[in-house]
Amino acid sequence: MQDHRKLGRELELFHSDPIIGAGLPLWLPKGAAARRAVEDYLLGLERRHGYQHVYSPPLAKEEMYRRSGHLPHYADDMFPPMALSESDRFVLRPSLCPHHAAVFAARGRSYRELPLRIGEIGGQYRAERSGVLGGLSRVRAISLNDGHVFCAEDQVEAEVVAALEVMREAHAALGFEPSAWRLSLRGDGPKYVDDPGLWERGTAVLRRALEAVGLKRDVDYVDGPGEAAFYGPKIDIQLLDSAGRESTLATVQVDYYMPARFDLSYVDADGVRKRPVMVHRSAAGSMERLFAHLIEVHDGAFPAWYAPVQLEVLPIGDADVRDFVQRARALDLRVEEAHAGSLSARIRGASARRVPFVAVIGASEAAAGTVSLRSRGGAVDVLPVADALARLESQCAVPKRITCATPSITM
Ligand SMILES: [Zn+2]
Repeated sequence: MQDHRKLGRELELFHSDPIIGAGLPLWLPKGAAARRAVEDYLLGLERRHGYQHVYSPPLAKEEMYRRSGHLPHYADDMFPPMALSESDRFVLRPSLCPHHAAVFAARGRSYRELPLRIGEIGGQYRAERSGVLGGLSRVRAISLNDGHVFCAEDQVEAEVVAALEVMREAHAALGFEPSAWRLSLRGDGPKYVDDPGLWERGTAVLRRALEAVGLKRDVDYVDGPGEAAFYGPKIDIQLLDSAGRESTLATVQVDYYMPARFDLSYVDADGVRKRPVMVHRSAAGSMERLFAHLIEVHDGAFPAWYAPVQLEVLPIGDADVRDFVQRARALDLRVEEAHAGSLSARIRGASARRVPFVAVIGASEAAAGTVSLRSRGGAVDVLPVADALARLESQCAVPKRITCATPSITM
């Protein structure tokens, strides 16, 4: 695997500028196009699995993070508070969880609404030291594919299983496999919430969920003491980068702690007020770490559905390609034209840019109403324009699998 920083520069996907600061990369148009396609896919996938999406601001009053437990347990990783006045102190959020807890608490909730699945691709911040930052794999401004399921105790296991299934579907569509699965458990020290019963319950439910999706202890997953979140155990999906370093991409966590901290409740069928459980999950991790991995694992040649440019059109001589380009764009394909240089140099350029499809149109193709369509593998077909467009549309289609695994939400 090639280092994603080198490929990211060559393919003009992202850029770091010292005037902005380390760990704060810019997504250039090509990287942004690929990311937008992936984000749209992830949001659609979650909608099909019963998620409702929200927007929430990337900062909040300091008090919110005292309540959530982040300030007592996680302050070392947070940026210092910003004070507008003595009483008005704000924090760049270290996680989206408290905001989503506030979405749940926005009005009274009934057991009929559970499980309530809330999703967002939102910003969070981590005060990393300069020395550990690099490219997209470790950043200070993180765009997280996040989600929180608020459910009853007897729904937790099924929701963890459903989250693992969403995750597997996403990873297959994006074209990679995790290097390892880990059950991350509490370690010693003040970092972890001190409530042994809570840790036991959470760990047991995660073990049962791993078993339910066919993963066996010490065979398919390993225990990771000291790797849990401060509020509960989690299942972590690990990746290896081009240097062989391991990092966590996706995660599912069971949390009995934060619902109590925010005094969340719903009215059960018997009219009694009960505490929901929070399942935190990220199917694809942060957009930054995800793309660091996708760039490396695909050597920059992304699957066509999220390639920044899906089709390059190369006219020979003064062949008129405007109509073809317009029809391709009307199908929502990302299209560029290349006019300068010899045909062979332009084909080499498209290949170096990992463009999945190249259409060559010369005088003979124009007269016959055809295009010469070349795919990334090297195969060339001369096709009528309509057939070429139909093939491009189907081969660049966003993966869509309708599953019935997750019961639809009831309102
Ligand atoms: Zn969370």
